[in-house]
Amino acid sequence: MNVKHKELSFQLMVEASPISLVLVNSYGKIAYLNSYAEKLFLYNKNELIGRDLSILLPQKYRSHHPDLLKDYFTNPVTRQMGENRDLYALKKDNVEFPVEIGLNPIVTVEGTLVLAAIIDITERKKANEQFRLVVESAPNAMILADYSGTIVMVNKQTEILFGYERDELVGQKVELLVPGKLKQYHPQLRDKFYAKPQARPMGVGRDLFGLRKDGTEIPIEIGLNPLEKNESQFVLASIIDITERKKNEEAIRLYTKRIEAKNKELEQFSFIASHDLREPLNSITSLIGLLLEEDAGKMDAEMLKRMDFIAKSSSRMKDLVKGLLDYARLGKNSEFGIVDFNEIVAIVVNDLELLVKNSGAEINVKRLPVIAALEVEVHSLFQNLISNAIKYRSKDRKPKIEISAQKVENGWEFVVRDNGIGIPKNQQERIFVIFQRLHGRNEYEGIGVGLAHCRKIVELHDGKIWVESEPEKGSTFYFFIPLK
Ligand code: ADP
Repeated sequence: MNVKHKELSFQLMVEASPISLVLVNSYGKIAYLNSYAEKLFLYNKNELIGRDLSILLPQKYRSHHPDLLKDYFTNPVTRQMGENRDLYALKKDNVEFPVEIGLNPIVTVEGTLVLAAIIDITERKKANEQFRLVVESAPNAMILADYSGTIVMVNKQTEILFGYERDELVGQKVELLVPGKLKQYHPQLRDKFYAKPQARPMGVGRDLFGLRKDGTEIPIEIGLNPLEKNESQFVLASIIDITERKKNEEAIRLYTKRIEAKNKELEQFSFIASHDLREPLNSITSLIGLLLEEDAGKMDAEMLKRMDFIAKSSSRMKDLVKGLLDYARLGKNSEFGIVDFNEIVAIVVNDLELLVKNSGAEINVKRLPVIAALEVEVHSLFQNLISNAIKYRSKDRKPKIEISAQKVENGWEFVVRDNGIGIPKNQQERIFVIFQRLHGRNEYEGIGVGLAHCRKIVELHDGKIWVESEPEKGSTFYFFIPLK
């Protein structure tokens, strides 16, 4: 290739280059610039060629620049200009803008020149500034560290959380903030992260702590986000102080434990009390029965009335005590088995035959599942719900009852719907509490344990029960049984 051809192709390349290029000689005079540079600086080529380079520099840098140029020409190598310092250039309209400059020496017959590649970084700076503002005002502590674990940037929350000033953190290793044994393993964990960098929480399944400047440790949660900047890998760690959450969790745990203990105690108590009460109650009721049978003739009408009252009260008390005892016993000796709910409901409906017939009830059972459950308890559950659906019927119409189930996420939702008297909204919680009834004894027979039983049974299955109802229209009882 001859010299002319070489020069030509070089010039073409410079001209066509999509970045601003300015060629400067050792005297600091502009030898050439490409059209990209013309556009960037808003000058024509002929306005700049032969002029001093300082025309493209903001006033405040002009006096210092010749020395820098001289330095460069004593050792002209390819390098970035002004590392660790922000560079600015000046347009023809006197607008200053941030730039990044790469310097490349070019040796020609007329001596060494430097080709400066200039990139306008206004947009990048803006984006960086926005990023910095977002990070700074983030409600979490945020730490930007490089692949060696050196902290590059921290935000205000980091200072608050760890008790360090920003200057004490930037340039330090992140291990400064890692307590105890983990400090020494941390570099290995970091290498692992960089081997496959992806956004993820740190230390899944293990409690993380941060080390504050005063030596105290704080429970934290950390999210890691890999970032790439100038072809280097960084990680942005977002850190949340979970002291309060941990405290709450602990408080809830203790509270739950206390309630569980209390519940057990209460259950034990009702079991013993009802068990012990049964004996004397049985004696009383059978004695009264005997009296009424054998000595009724010796009593006058008033006495008989009183005796009858005592008999009814003690029999009711017996029912109450039995209800309580059954309640305490629920689930005590039962084990989960595969239960065909169709079969159970058929048995219950059959057991209730008389009630069904007398009330004229129409019971419609849809297909039900076969799942793991406590068989005896499920029987009692349907027995209570179906007999209530008939018992609390409206006087105006025949009871219509529909029983169905549908598969929901991780379990089955059962439905027992009636067209009975309904339940006012403000009573719909209360009815699941033992001995709570909405009706007088004369209106509807009962002692108020049925639904409490139902709730306990469903809870033995880790499920839940609830009701939706509108007075005068009917009630729908739902219960959910999760799959085992
Ligand atoms: P009991 O039927 O012995 O009173 P339960 O615990 O089974 O006890 O029911 C509690 C109360 O809930 C009942 O007294 C009744 O007022 C109300 N209730 C239960 N089931 C229904 C229903 N299907 N329709 C209307 N009210 C109902």
